[in-house]
Amino acid sequence: MTAPAPVQAAPGPVTRRWDEVAAALRPSLSPAAKLTREESLAGKTTMRVGGAARLYAEPASVADLQALLAGAKSHGVAVLMLGRGSNLIVPDEGVDGLVISLAHEAWAGFEPTGDGRVRVGAGLRLKNLCGLAAKAGLGGFEFLEGIPGNVGGALRMNAGAMGGWMFDVVEEVRLMTMDGAVRNLPRAAMHVDYRHCAELHDAIALVAVLRPATQADAAAVKSQMEAYSRKRHESQPREPSAGCIFKNPPGQSAGRLIDESGLKGERVGDAEVSPTHANFIVNLGRATGGDVLELVRRVRARVKQVKGVDLEPEALLYGKNWKDVL
Ligand SMILES: Cc1cc2nc3c(=O)[nH]c(=O)nc-3n(C[C@H](O)[C@H](O)[C@H](O)COP(=O)(O)OP(=O)(O)OC[C@H]3O[C@@H](n4cnc5c(N)ncnc54)[C@H](O)[C@@H]3O)c2cc1C
Repeated sequence: MTAPAPVQAAPGPVTRRWDEVAAALRPSLSPAAKLTREESLAGKTTMRVGGAARLYAEPASVADLQALLAGAKSHGVAVLMLGRGSNLIVPDEGVDGLVISLAHEAWAGFEPTGDGRVRVGAGLRLKNLCGLAAKAGLGGFEFLEGIPGNVGGALRMNAGAMGGWMFDVVEEVRLMTMDGAVRNLPRAAMHVDYRHCAELHDAIALVAVLRPATQADAAAVKSQMEAYSRKRHESQPREPSAGCIFKNPPGQSAGRLIDESGLKGERVGDAEVSPTHANFIVNLGRATGGDVLELVRRVRARVKQVKGVDLEPEALLYGKNWKDVL
């Protein structure tokens, strides 16, 4: 006797609506573009927690990106950019919007201009930028070694390490506004500070022209990168994380405040305050987004109680505002 076929529940109105938006967007994209429903985001982030994107796209060209933005606007759908997901915590319920990643190779260009500058695509991984620059004898990017993001994420976050900031080497950024207009902005017209670039709050970085501070021979660049890499390996945890979870309060170290509040090794489920570096929350294997949020709340409360300091998250809560959950 064959078992009766399982009864398929009819898709609810919310599911149907997202299916309809996907069906409306698809014809306007090139065949090389990717567009999916309910794409899991945990594997696209370094913290490896959280749910799916209702809609997920990898455009293959400027025209694809413009079509996605126009379609999202006409359907009233929120748009979120995703870089390498190395500064994000994805909530367990996922993201009610269109997540766009510049993962297609079209966005990963690296073109030295011959006059000491280099034009790079927003989808280029920082690791590849450092490697290619070293090969080309372009010094000045070594501080970016080991930051696991791409150029777009590093511009938006003004990523920094080892005494340097991304915008130290930026000369110009080509971006797309949410209306699909493409603009070139010189560095001088951009407002950047600690882990923030105002012009990319509501726009998409496409390309950056970088001018490294120095010219150096390939061997010197390589050895500097190796020194930075050793330093990171000694001071940072190996387990999945979203990098530093809190911003350093002015003149203070968030890691030291958390350590001195007795929180190293504090756990919620499989989310743990790293015993290696207290400003990292690591995923010991099966952490959920909820575990990470609960641990963030607990750390903030304890540091406030012991040290009297309000820590502000540096990692972003994807698709949400921290103030709504803390
Ligand atoms: C082990 C580890 C070490 C780290 N070390 C450092 C460090 O030393 N210094 C440091 O600054 N950070 C560090 N980080 C954090 C993180 O790597 C950086 O913030 C990085 O710049 C984020 O880049 P991303 O591509 O992963 O961006 P994502 O995390 O994917 O996104 C970050 C933000 O950028 C936006 N975004 C992404 N692409 C674009 C685009 N093309 N246009 C506009 N907005 C965009 C996203 O919407 C989001 O708001 C570390 C993280 C880890 C896991």
